[in-house]
Amino acid sequence: MTIAWQGGDVAVVGAGLIGLAIAFELAERGAHVRVFDRAEPARAASWAGAGMLAPYTERIEDEVLLALCTESLAMYPQFVARVRGASGFDVELALEGIVNTAFDSAKLDALREHARELAQHGVAHELLDREATLAAQPALGRHVVGSLVVRGEGYVDNRQLGRALAAACEAAGVTIVREARDLALECDARRVLGVRSERGFCAASAVVVAAGAWSASIPGLPPECAPPVAPVKGQMLALAIPRGFVRRTTWAPGAYLVPREDGRLLVGATAEHVGFEERVTALGIRKLLDAALAAAPALGDFSITETWAGLRPGSPDERPMLGPTPREGLLLATGHYRNGILLAPVTARLIAEYVAHGDAAALAPWALARFGKEVRDAARIGEA
Ligand SMILES: Cc1cc2nc3c(=O)[nH]c(=O)nc-3n(C[C@H](O)[C@H](O)[C@H](O)COP(=O)(O)OP(=O)(O)OC[C@H]3O[C@@H](n4cnc5c(N)ncnc54)[C@H](O)[C@@H]3O)c2cc1C
Repeated sequence: MTIAWQGGDVAVVGAGLIGLAIAFELAERGAHVRVFDRAEPARAASWAGAGMLAPYTERIEDEVLLALCTESLAMYPQFVARVRGASGFDVELALEGIVNTAFDSAKLDALREHARELAQHGVAHELLDREATLAAQPALGRHVVGSLVVRGEGYVDNRQLGRALAAACEAAGVTIVREARDLALECDARRVLGVRSERGFCAASAVVVAAGAWSASIPGLPPECAPPVAPVKGQMLALAIPRGFVRRTTWAPGAYLVPREDGRLLVGATAEHVGFEERVTALGIRKLLDAALAAAPALGDFSITETWAGLRPGSPDERPMLGPTPREGLLLATGHYRNGILLAPVTARLIAEYVAHGDAAALAPWALARFGKEVRDAARIGEA
């Protein structure tokens, strides 16, 4: 693969789904890629997430971001097929629709309005009355008044995807440097030079910073290149339910329910601005359980099998930061906030195309330069 800068190697810092998807895409296009992570691949937010692929259900109001998310959703089946093919691992992908529930007339009116908007966008959907909602999701409480099913949305098992993507990368020739200590970027006044770790210096023509919520604090990152990302903690839990008890991903007031084929039901998620802190708290879990049991009281009988928390890479305008920085060859792929799993395929494509051609036109909406110095400084101070 020809690389826009001097034709050399590419280094990716961060082996979450974003860094791995980029590495896989680049390697499949013929680039020589190394991925560095201070921990094991895909064990941070990419492991903690619910894996929902839900741009419409999320009600993303930013039309440009919505278009990016729907483009990535459309790429998902082929992306997963490529990862399965290269890794030999299965990855659960279910896109049979998400059920948005209403438990009062105000919410039902909001769902009807949402349905009108979906119709204008040509998105397949269905409004269900109370009886049809209960027939589709018998686990819901009898007081449900209706629902909106958005077709084509669903979930990917993000933990399976992380494992498979790491294997697919290695099968495609990517070197993954796990548990890298003393990792730092090296730059001169004009451009990036490479990545240094305890294992030595690795020269690179392009370095992609994809370290999720930690992307602003990579040692050696020049201050003017630091993205204004901030951690947004999310707590979740899993219940063990009989297969089919909750048939499809379901949104209810205060919680979403995401079934997995292995019998887990994921219940998520809180959104907390508490810095780099990943504790599971009694209050967080209580809020999730209260909301889940209010929507589906029958869940009260099942065992809690797991609780966990992770840090979303928050962005001031909720758009990711993708592409060049003021140092030549130093690129960002971060700030995906609550849609990083959904956005992995399109992010990989955009970054790979930029690495190949150096043409930033397609990346304009995601440029670091959209933030003034004040926003970047404020983010740095907030992080300190
Ligand atoms: C509770 C919760 C629910 C979510 N639900 C969804 C959902 O349903 N759908 C969806 O699309 N998204 C969801 N998200 C968001 C999604 O998980 C993230 O946007 C996405 O995983 C970000 O991926 P990433 O690769 O950028 O970051 P991460 O997965 O956090 O990976 C960053 C990597 O960088 C590494 N790293 C950090 N610092 C360094 C360093 N100094 N040197 C080297 N490596 C470093 C870390 O070890 C880690 O491996 C959810 C997130 C949470 C927390």
